[in-house]
Amino acid sequence: MMGTNALRAAFLDYFANKQHQVVPSSPLIPGTDPTLLFTNAGMVPFKDVFLGREARDYTRAASSQRCVRAGGKHNDLENVGYTARHHTFFEMLGNFSFGDYFKREAIGYAWEFLTVELGLPPEKLWITVYEEDEDAAAIWLDEIGVSPDRFSRIGAADNFWSMGDTGPCGPCSEIFYDHGAHIPGGPPGTPEEDGDRYVEIWNLVFMQYNRQADGSMEDLPKPSVDTGMGLERIAAVLQGTHDNYGIDLFRTLMAATAEAVGCDLDDPERQASLKVVADHIRATAFLIADGVLPANEGRGYVLRRIMRRAIRHGHKLGATEAFFHKLVAPLTDEMGEAFPELAAARAHVEKVVAQEESRFAETLAQGMTILDNAIADLSGKTLDGETVFKLYDTYGFPVDLTADVARERGLRVDQEGFDREMAAQRERARAASRFSVDYTQAVDVAGTTRFTGYGAVEDAGQVI
Ligand code: ATP
Ligand code: MG
Ligand code: MG
Ligand code: MG
Repeated sequence: MMGTNALRAAFLDYFANKQHQVVPSSPLIPGTDPTLLFTNAGMVPFKDVFLGREARDYTRAASSQRCVRAGGKHNDLENVGYTARHHTFFEMLGNFSFGDYFKREAIGYAWEFLTVELGLPPEKLWITVYEEDEDAAAIWLDEIGVSPDRFSRIGAADNFWSMGDTGPCGPCSEIFYDHGAHIPGGPPGTPEEDGDRYVEIWNLVFMQYNRQADGSMEDLPKPSVDTGMGLERIAAVLQGTHDNYGIDLFRTLMAATAEAVGCDLDDPERQASLKVVADHIRATAFLIADGVLPANEGRGYVLRRIMRRAIRHGHKLGATEAFFHKLVAPLTDEMGEAFPELAAARAHVEKVVAQEESRFAETLAQGMTILDNAIADLSGKTLDGETVFKLYDTYGFPVDLTADVARERGLRVDQEGFDREMAAQRERARAASRFSVDYTQAVDVAGTTRFTGYGAVEDAGQVI
């Protein structure tokens, strides 16, 4: 059985042998793109190279890029614990061509890596191309020889990629793995696709056009390639499980979680929470190692939401004391060699996690009691905005944490009602800050931005 660490190395070695420069993962805070919340794909650190704004002394690269998809354009937070294939933090294996090779080589490498290097049976793989991309279709069907029975042409929504409204763009080709008829889900391009049977493992992007401001497409003088394969998804395939959480890395983290909270690892009722905690410790630890701190706005608030969600699941698993920081050590043992920056930050990460746990501990149990009572008194299926806001404002429950509890019980939260309460709160704060304008300029300035005005009460357990 190939372990996750060995698989990462096998991927990078394969592409090194094909003259690719192996490039270390960049941090989760994108240095090149201030509009992006987190690095969410392997191509992000190469964006300026694709745009021709930055030159490198190589035209082929490969990496295993750490990514976070929580908040922003790609948000998979809500999927965690519910699908077998989504994480908030994951590694994207990728090979890149900067005006060097194009479709034929990109497809050939991917196919060879999967079927020869890893030895996957071709009949377990399913290929999609963009419906207008005849070049890619011909390469797959005529040169590689994939069966037309496991091949589909897909529209632009899934299979046409763009960097932005203008700039590089082009068709995609995706490789799916069929985990077998015992798993619910249908082939790509069918309404049943969104199950865990056919899992998208690799996405090849062929950057071919340059979209102009008027919408017209010009051919790029030097077409490029950007690919991304989820390390955890391909590890699951090789380890004979359809479930990413069944791989060596997650088994270790889930076992460490069960031990830290004192619950049974194999209890079917506890699997979802164990998965959420194991997922979230990775996002938490890597974000902190990359310089994010839990806060009430921006990136720091995404981190806080992830942490509090995990802590609430730990509470549900029966934790009676702080447990989350105890998972930093087993995580570092698993991933510290591949990511020396994580190993180096271990003590700092433990401290920050322990602090957030003790801060939230003050209000978590009380908030849960209020939430449980509100749910018990509920007649419909929707938790009212006032309760959601009170939990948020007084007990530090991010809305998605409350929504997560509600979802477990077949309910939803009244987001519009919450937004109304929030707007009213802000209006009151603005009115109050007008009075103090003569005394404290700073308060007035802070009052114009969203959250800063409440920073002072945060340590009293009040979190915006
Ligand atoms: P999906 O359709 O399954 O949500 P995607 O099309 O959003 O995936 P891409 O943006 O194409 O994903 O990213 C490239 C690859 O990264 C995917 O083929 C998949 O293997 C992996 N990947 C994407 N999102 C996640 C995630 N949240 N957790 C784990 N792996 C992921
Ligand atoms: Mg997705
Ligand atoms: Mg997809
Ligand atoms: Mg994709």
